[in-house]
Amino acid sequence: MNTWKLQELNYQQVKDSDYEVAILPISAVEAHNLHLPYGTDFYQVEAIADRACARAADAGAKLVCLPGIPYGVESNLHKFPLSIHVQQSTLNTIIADIVAALEKDGIRKLVILNGHGGNDFKGCVRDLYAKSDVCIFVADWFRMAPDERNEVFEEPGDHADEMETSCCLYLVPELVHLEQADEGNIRQSRFEAMDRGLVWTTRPFDRLTTNCGVGNPHKATAEKGEEYLEAVVANLVKFLVELSEAEIDEYFPFRKT
Ligand SMILES: [Zn+2]
Repeated sequence: MNTWKLQELNYQQVKDSDYEVAILPISAVEAHNLHLPYGTDFYQVEAIADRACARAADAGAKLVCLPGIPYGVESNLHKFPLSIHVQQSTLNTIIADIVAALEKDGIRKLVILNGHGGNDFKGCVRDLYAKSDVCIFVADWFRMAPDERNEVFEEPGDHADEMETSCCLYLVPELVHLEQADEGNIRQSRFEAMDRGLVWTTRPFDRLTTNCGVGNPHKATAEKGEEYLEAVVANLVKFLVELSEAEIDEYFPFRKT
């Protein structure tokens, strides 16, 4: 029985529950090469949240998954129609309001489950640490199984690539039209310091890409998506169970000695 997905719970169930951890999925609305749906990040993060919360709850974790925020930071894709940009500061304001609500209700652990590389919650978490007793963790799901990511996928990429396409072939195959995809080729930078990661700048996708894909998606399969997502979910479940059981004392999240 669902005890954790808030949008499906009623007040009686919430009254009878004792929550330690809240999970907030956040994603983005954006074009993904020519073949994946605009809701790609949303479908992925919601599926991961559902699977991980169900298993963690079965393992005894006391958690509640909040309705997700489907919008994210999209300024890099503003030349691609209906890739809807919401400012990071707007997201941070919403998170601050949600954190205040959790604090009021005595929930002191929040996991932001992030499904979009353009979102960056570090500043938000640092700001809120000084203002709130809620301990906030950020889980970028696409970084949660790095070894498996390297093992499972042949072509590197980070947007509508083999990895994302495989995940969608597994989760929403009816929405994937791989035959429409281009090769996901990108232009190289003019600066060695950028290539070496010594300096960083934002990446305007209309200049970087052909159709906003980064990475060749054509070797994607549903089996690869299932294997990789399984690894992500397993790591997330382990963390959620441990977080639920952890006591918040003066040293949290560190060990006493
Ligand atoms: Zn994506």
